[in-house]
Amino acid sequence: MEQKLKDIRQLNVDQIAEYFESIGDKAFRAKQVYEWLWKKSAKDFDQMTNISLSTRELLKKNFVINHIAVDQMQRSDDGTIKNAVKLFDGMTVESVLIPTDKRITACISSQVGCSLDCHFCATARLKRMRNLKPDEIYDQVVAIKEQGEQFFNRPLTNIVFMGMGEPLLNYNNVIAAIDKITGDKGLGMSSKRITVSTVGIPKMIKKMADDEVKFNLAVSLHSAINETRSSVMPINDVNSLEDLADSLKYWYEKTKRKVTYEYVVWSGINDKKADVEALVKFCKIIPSKVNLIEYNPIDEGRFQQAEDSAIGLYVKLLESNDIVVNVRRSRGKDIDAACGQLANKI
Ligand code: SF4
Repeated sequence: MEQKLKDIRQLNVDQIAEYFESIGDKAFRAKQVYEWLWKKSAKDFDQMTNISLSTRELLKKNFVINHIAVDQMQRSDDGTIKNAVKLFDGMTVESVLIPTDKRITACISSQVGCSLDCHFCATARLKRMRNLKPDEIYDQVVAIKEQGEQFFNRPLTNIVFMGMGEPLLNYNNVIAAIDKITGDKGLGMSSKRITVSTVGIPKMIKKMADDEVKFNLAVSLHSAINETRSSVMPINDVNSLEDLADSLKYWYEKTKRKVTYEYVVWSGINDKKADVEALVKFCKIIPSKVNLIEYNPIDEGRFQQAEDSAIGLYVKLLESNDIVVNVRRSRGKDIDAACGQLANKI
Protein backbone atom coordinates (compact mmCIF):
# COMPACT_ATOMS: atom_id res chain seq x y z
CA MET A 1 0.00 0.00 0.00
CA GLU A 2 1.53 3.29 -1.14
CA GLN A 3 1.23 6.05 1.46
CA LYS A 4 1.34 9.70 0.49
CA LEU A 5 2.61 10.98 3.82
CA LYS A 6 5.87 9.88 5.40
CA ASP A 7 5.82 7.87 8.60
CA ILE A 8 7.44 10.23 11.09
CA ARG A 9 8.91 7.32 13.04
CA GLN A 10 11.18 6.55 10.11
CA LEU A 11 13.03 9.78 11.02
CA ASN A 12 15.58 10.05 13.79
CA VAL A 13 15.59 12.96 16.21
CA ASP A 14 18.09 14.97 14.11
CA GLN A 15 15.98 14.58 11.00
CA ILE A 16 12.90 15.76 12.91
CA ALA A 17 14.95 18.74 14.14
CA GLU A 18 15.90 19.53 10.53
CA TYR A 19 12.23 19.46 9.61
CA PHE A 20 11.37 21.96 12.33
CA GLU A 21 14.22 24.23 11.26
CA SER A 22 13.09 24.03 7.64
CA ILE A 23 9.67 25.41 8.62
CA GLY A 24 11.21 28.08 10.83
CA ASP A 25 10.23 26.38 14.08
CA LYS A 26 12.45 25.62 17.08
CA ALA A 27 14.69 22.56 16.72
CA PHE A 28 14.15 21.59 20.38
CA ARG A 29 10.59 20.59 19.48
CA ALA A 30 12.16 17.52 17.87
CA LYS A 31 13.13 16.13 21.26
CA GLN A 32 9.60 16.57 22.58
CA VAL A 33 8.04 14.97 19.53
CA TYR A 34 10.55 12.13 19.59
CA GLU A 35 9.75 11.46 23.21
CA TRP A 36 6.05 11.30 22.41
CA LEU A 37 6.68 8.96 19.49
CA TRP A 38 8.80 6.42 21.35
CA LYS A 39 8.88 6.77 25.11
CA LYS A 40 5.22 7.71 25.38
CA SER A 41 4.12 5.72 22.33
CA ALA A 42 1.73 8.36 21.03
CA LYS A 43 -0.65 6.93 18.48
CA ASP A 44 -1.62 10.28 17.01
CA PHE A 45 -0.34 13.83 17.02
CA ASP A 46 -3.20 15.13 19.17
CA GLN A 47 -1.82 13.23 22.15
CA MET A 48 1.24 15.53 22.08
CA THR A 49 -0.24 18.02 24.49
CA ASN A 50 2.91 20.08 25.09
CA ILE A 51 3.19 20.78 21.35
CA SER A 52 1.18 23.77 20.15
CA LEU A 53 -2.02 23.11 18.27
CA SER A 54 -0.72 24.81 15.11
CA THR A 55 2.44 22.67 15.10
CA ARG A 56 0.40 19.53 15.61
CA GLU A 57 -1.80 20.51 12.66
CA LEU A 58 1.31 21.01 10.53
CA LEU A 59 2.68 17.64 11.57
CA LYS A 60 -0.64 16.02 10.66
CA LYS A 61 -0.50 17.56 7.20
CA ASN A 62 3.00 16.27 6.56
CA PHE A 63 3.35 12.98 8.43
CA VAL A 64 1.54 9.94 9.68
CA ILE A 65 2.25 7.67 12.66
CA ASN A 66 1.92 4.11 11.42
CA HIS A 67 1.13 2.69 14.82
CA ILE A 68 -0.09 -0.91 14.95
CA ALA A 69 -3.63 -1.53 16.12
CA VAL A 70 -4.69 -4.47 18.25
CA ASP A 71 -7.52 -5.59 16.03
CA GLN A 72 -8.73 -8.49 18.15
CA MET A 73 -7.80 -9.77 21.55
CA GLN A 74 -8.53 -13.25 22.90
CA ARG A 75 -8.10 -14.30 26.53
CA SER A 76 -7.33 -17.85 27.55
CA ASP A 77 -8.65 -19.57 30.68
CA ASP A 78 -5.08 -19.49 32.01
CA GLY A 79 -4.81 -15.71 31.56
CA THR A 80 -2.80 -15.77 28.34
CA ILE A 81 -3.81 -13.04 25.89
CA LYS A 82 -3.44 -13.39 22.13
CA ASN A 83 -3.50 -10.27 19.99
CA ALA A 84 -4.23 -10.07 16.30
CA VAL A 85 -2.27 -7.00 15.33
CA LYS A 86 -3.21 -4.99 12.26
CA LEU A 87 -0.34 -3.29 10.44
CA PHE A 88 -0.56 -0.07 8.44
CA ASP A 89 -0.86 -1.97 5.14
CA GLY A 90 -3.70 -4.17 6.36
CA MET A 91 -1.54 -7.23 7.07
CA THR A 92 -1.85 -9.06 10.38
CA VAL A 93 0.56 -10.68 12.82
CA GLU A 94 0.00 -12.16 16.24
CA SER A 95 1.60 -11.49 19.59
CA VAL A 96 0.97 -13.12 22.96
CA LEU A 97 1.05 -12.00 26.59
CA ILE A 98 2.01 -14.88 28.86
CA PRO A 99 1.40 -14.30 32.58
CA THR A 100 3.10 -16.48 35.20
CA ASP A 101 3.59 -15.98 38.95
CA LYS A 102 6.76 -14.02 38.53
CA ARG A 103 6.65 -12.74 34.97
CA ILE A 104 4.67 -10.98 32.32
CA THR A 105 6.23 -12.11 29.06
CA ALA A 106 5.60 -10.68 25.60
CA CYS A 107 5.98 -13.21 22.79
CA ILE A 108 6.28 -11.15 19.63
CA SER A 109 6.50 -11.60 15.87
CA SER A 110 9.30 -10.45 13.59
CA GLN A 111 7.85 -11.24 10.16
CA VAL A 112 4.43 -11.52 8.53
CA GLY A 113 4.32 -15.28 7.98
CA CYS A 114 7.55 -17.24 7.65
CA SER A 115 9.65 -18.66 4.84
CA LEU A 116 11.20 -21.54 6.74
CA ASP A 117 8.59 -24.25 6.55
CA CYS A 118 9.22 -26.06 9.84
CA HIS A 119 6.77 -28.91 9.41
CA PHE A 120 5.33 -28.75 12.93
CA CYS A 121 4.55 -25.02 12.84
CA ALA A 122 1.23 -23.37 11.99
CA THR A 123 2.92 -20.11 10.96
CA ALA A 124 4.85 -21.94 8.25
CA ARG A 125 1.56 -22.48 6.43
CA LEU A 126 1.17 -18.72 5.96
CA LYS A 127 4.33 -18.17 3.85
CA ARG A 128 6.42 -15.07 4.35
CA MET A 129 4.77 -11.85 3.19
CA ARG A 130 7.22 -9.28 4.51
CA ASN A 131 9.55 -8.31 7.31
CA LEU A 132 8.24 -6.22 10.17
CA LYS A 133 9.74 -2.76 10.59
CA PRO A 134 11.43 -1.82 13.86
CA ASP A 135 8.45 0.28 14.99
CA GLU A 136 6.01 -2.58 14.28
CA ILE A 137 8.08 -4.85 16.52
CA TYR A 138 8.38 -2.15 19.18
CA ASP A 139 4.62 -1.46 19.11
CA GLN A 140 3.80 -5.11 19.84
CA VAL A 141 5.89 -4.84 23.00
CA VAL A 142 4.20 -1.59 24.00
CA ALA A 143 0.73 -3.09 23.45
CA ILE A 144 1.54 -6.04 25.70
CA LYS A 145 3.16 -3.79 28.29
CA GLU A 146 -0.09 -1.79 28.42
CA GLN A 147 -2.18 -4.97 28.68
CA GLY A 148 0.04 -6.21 31.54
CA GLU A 149 -0.67 -2.98 33.41
CA GLN A 150 -4.37 -2.94 32.53
CA PHE A 151 -5.29 -6.59 33.18
CA PHE A 152 -2.70 -7.74 35.71
CA ASN A 153 -1.52 -4.50 37.26
CA ARG A 154 2.02 -5.70 36.70
CA PRO A 155 4.92 -4.49 34.56
CA LEU A 156 6.24 -6.28 31.52
CA THR A 157 9.26 -8.31 32.61
CA ASN A 158 10.40 -10.37 29.62
CA ILE A 159 10.32 -10.38 25.84
CA VAL A 160 10.78 -13.41 23.63
CA PHE A 161 11.05 -13.33 19.85
CA MET A 162 9.15 -16.58 19.40
CA GLY A 163 6.07 -15.41 17.54
CA MET A 164 5.71 -15.45 13.79
CA GLY A 165 8.82 -15.40 11.65
CA GLU A 166 12.53 -16.06 11.94
CA PRO A 167 14.10 -13.03 13.67
CA LEU A 168 17.56 -13.56 12.22
CA LEU A 169 16.14 -13.26 8.71
CA ASN A 170 15.00 -9.76 9.68
CA TYR A 171 18.13 -9.03 11.63
CA ASN A 172 18.62 -5.30 11.13
CA ASN A 173 15.05 -4.44 12.03
CA VAL A 174 15.04 -6.74 15.06
CA ILE A 175 18.26 -5.15 16.31
CA ALA A 176 16.88 -1.65 15.70
CA ALA A 177 13.72 -2.56 17.63
CA ILE A 178 15.73 -4.00 20.53
CA ASP A 179 17.86 -0.84 20.61
CA LYS A 180 14.66 1.15 21.06
CA ILE A 181 13.19 -1.28 23.61
CA THR A 182 16.35 -1.14 25.73
CA GLY A 183 17.31 2.50 25.11
CA ASP A 184 16.52 5.31 27.53
CA LYS A 185 14.66 7.09 24.73
CA GLY A 186 12.43 4.02 24.43
CA LEU A 187 11.29 1.57 27.10
CA GLY A 188 14.59 1.31 28.98
CA MET A 189 14.26 -2.46 29.51
CA SER A 190 17.28 -4.61 30.26
CA SER A 191 18.58 -6.67 27.33
CA LYS A 192 19.01 -9.55 29.79
CA ARG A 193 15.22 -9.77 29.77
CA ILE A 194 15.10 -10.30 26.00
CA THR A 195 15.52 -13.64 24.24
CA VAL A 196 15.84 -14.04 20.50
CA SER A 197 14.83 -17.51 19.40
CA THR A 198 16.09 -18.82 16.07
CA VAL A 199 16.07 -22.01 14.06
CA GLY A 200 19.84 -21.56 14.15
CA ILE A 201 21.36 -19.79 11.15
CA PRO A 202 25.12 -20.20 11.69
CA LYS A 203 26.19 -17.15 9.68
CA MET A 204 23.83 -14.91 11.65
CA ILE A 205 24.76 -16.39 15.04
CA LYS A 206 28.38 -15.48 14.27
CA LYS A 207 27.32 -12.02 13.21
CA MET A 208 25.44 -11.52 16.50
CA ALA A 209 28.55 -12.56 18.38
CA ASP A 210 30.64 -10.08 16.35
CA ASP A 211 28.06 -7.38 17.01
CA GLU A 212 28.37 -8.09 20.75
CA VAL A 213 24.62 -8.23 21.28
CA LYS A 214 23.57 -8.37 24.91
CA PHE A 215 20.32 -10.29 24.71
CA ASN A 216 19.87 -14.05 25.22
CA LEU A 217 20.03 -16.61 22.47
CA ALA A 218 17.68 -19.57 22.16
CA VAL A 219 17.88 -22.16 19.38
CA SER A 220 14.93 -24.30 18.29
CA LEU A 221 16.80 -27.55 18.15
CA HIS A 222 14.23 -30.37 18.30
CA SER A 223 16.81 -32.98 17.35
CA ALA A 224 20.58 -33.35 17.57
CA ILE A 225 20.59 -35.95 14.78
CA ASN A 226 20.90 -34.43 11.30
CA GLU A 227 18.53 -36.83 9.57
CA THR A 228 15.79 -36.38 12.14
CA ARG A 229 16.23 -32.62 12.35
CA SER A 230 16.10 -32.26 8.56
CA SER A 231 12.89 -34.28 8.50
CA VAL A 232 11.13 -31.70 10.69
CA MET A 233 13.08 -28.53 9.83
CA PRO A 234 14.17 -28.26 6.17
CA ILE A 235 16.60 -25.45 7.12
CA ASN A 236 18.81 -28.20 8.51
CA ASP A 237 19.50 -29.43 4.96
CA VAL A 238 21.51 -26.29 4.27
CA ASN A 239 22.66 -25.50 7.81
CA SER A 240 23.78 -28.77 9.35
CA LEU A 241 24.18 -29.44 13.06
CA GLU A 242 27.96 -29.34 12.59
CA ASP A 243 27.75 -25.81 11.15
CA LEU A 244 25.36 -24.83 13.93
CA ALA A 245 27.75 -26.24 16.55
CA ASP A 246 30.65 -24.25 15.03
CA SER A 247 28.67 -21.03 15.20
CA LEU A 248 27.62 -21.74 18.80
CA LYS A 249 31.24 -22.28 19.81
CA TYR A 250 32.05 -18.94 18.21
CA TRP A 251 29.12 -17.35 20.05
CA TYR A 252 30.33 -18.68 23.39
CA GLU A 253 33.96 -17.72 22.82
CA LYS A 254 32.92 -14.16 22.08
CA THR A 255 30.04 -13.61 24.50
CA LYS A 256 30.65 -16.15 27.28
CA ARG A 257 26.88 -16.58 27.45
CA LYS A 258 25.11 -19.92 27.46
CA VAL A 259 22.49 -20.85 24.94
CA THR A 260 19.02 -22.28 25.53
CA TYR A 261 17.84 -25.14 23.35
CA GLU A 262 14.10 -25.22 22.69
CA TYR A 263 13.08 -28.79 22.20
CA VAL A 264 9.77 -30.54 21.57
CA VAL A 265 9.52 -34.31 21.93
CA TRP A 266 7.17 -35.90 19.40
CA SER A 267 5.86 -39.40 19.46
CA GLY A 268 7.72 -41.63 16.98
CA ILE A 269 10.04 -38.83 15.82
CA ASN A 270 12.54 -38.02 18.57
CA ASP A 271 11.37 -39.99 21.59
CA LYS A 272 14.00 -42.77 21.62
CA LYS A 273 17.04 -43.16 23.84
CA ALA A 274 19.36 -42.49 20.88
CA ASP A 275 17.66 -39.08 20.46
CA VAL A 276 18.24 -38.23 24.10
CA GLU A 277 21.87 -39.32 23.97
CA ALA A 278 22.48 -37.19 20.87
CA LEU A 279 21.00 -34.18 22.67
CA VAL A 280 23.16 -34.76 25.76
CA LYS A 281 26.24 -34.84 23.51
CA PHE A 282 25.18 -31.67 21.69
CA CYS A 283 24.57 -29.88 24.99
CA LYS A 284 28.18 -30.44 25.97
CA ILE A 285 29.52 -28.40 23.04
CA ILE A 286 29.03 -25.14 24.94
CA PRO A 287 27.34 -24.34 28.28
CA SER A 288 23.64 -24.65 27.67
CA LYS A 289 20.26 -25.48 29.11
CA VAL A 290 17.24 -27.18 27.63
CA ASN A 291 13.58 -26.18 27.59
CA LEU A 292 11.41 -29.18 26.83
CA ILE A 293 8.25 -27.61 25.46
CA GLU A 294 4.89 -29.26 25.46
CA TYR A 295 3.56 -29.56 21.91
CA ASN A 296 0.19 -28.39 20.74
CA PRO A 297 -0.88 -30.42 17.74
CA ILE A 298 -1.98 -28.21 14.85
CA ASP A 299 -3.90 -31.11 13.28
CA GLU A 300 -4.32 -34.87 13.48
CA GLY A 301 -1.14 -35.44 11.46
CA ARG A 302 2.38 -36.62 12.05
CA PHE A 303 3.24 -34.41 15.02
CA GLN A 304 1.81 -35.53 18.33
CA GLN A 305 3.10 -34.90 21.82
CA ALA A 306 5.26 -37.77 23.11
CA GLU A 307 4.37 -39.90 26.11
CA ASP A 308 5.33 -38.63 29.55
CA SER A 309 7.78 -41.52 29.84
CA ALA A 310 9.79 -40.12 26.91
CA ILE A 311 9.90 -36.67 28.53
CA GLY A 312 10.95 -38.36 31.77
CA LEU A 313 13.84 -40.08 30.00
CA TYR A 314 15.04 -36.76 28.58
CA VAL A 315 14.90 -35.13 32.00
CA LYS A 316 16.68 -38.03 33.69
CA LEU A 317 19.57 -38.28 31.22
CA LEU A 318 20.07 -34.53 30.90
CA GLU A 319 20.09 -34.03 34.66
CA SER A 320 22.44 -36.93 35.26
CA ASN A 321 24.81 -35.16 32.87
CA ASP A 322 24.48 -31.90 34.83
CA ILE A 323 22.51 -30.15 32.12
CA VAL A 324 19.75 -27.85 33.37
CA VAL A 325 16.39 -28.84 31.92
CA ASN A 326 12.97 -27.21 32.34
CA VAL A 327 9.74 -28.79 31.24
CA ARG A 328 7.51 -26.04 29.95
CA ARG A 329 3.79 -26.56 29.87
CA SER A 330 2.30 -24.58 27.03
CA ARG A 331 0.06 -21.64 27.78
CA GLY A 332 -2.97 -20.38 25.90
CA LYS A 333 -3.72 -23.69 24.16
CA ASP A 334 -7.47 -23.05 24.10
CA ILE A 335 -6.97 -19.93 21.97
CA ASP A 336 -4.23 -21.29 19.69
CA ALA A 337 -1.69 -19.00 21.31
CA ALA A 338 0.77 -21.68 22.32
CA CYS A 339 4.12 -22.34 20.75
CA GLY A 340 3.87 -23.14 17.03
CA GLN A 341 0.16 -22.32 16.86
CA LEU A 342 0.20 -18.73 15.65
CA ALA A 343 -1.55 -18.69 12.31
CA ASN A 344 -3.77 -15.60 12.11
CA LYS A 345 -6.91 -17.56 12.86
CA ILE A 346 -8.74 -14.95 14.94
S1 SF4 B 1 8.96 -22.46 13.84
FE1 SF4 B 1 9.60 -20.34 13.57
S2 SF4 B 1 11.10 -20.43 11.90
FE2 SF4 B 1 9.96 -22.37 11.82
S3 SF4 B 1 8.30 -21.98 10.37
FE3 SF4 B 1 7.51 -21.52 12.42
S4 SF4 B 1 7.80 -19.31 12.66
FE4 SF4 B 1 9.13 -20.00 10.97
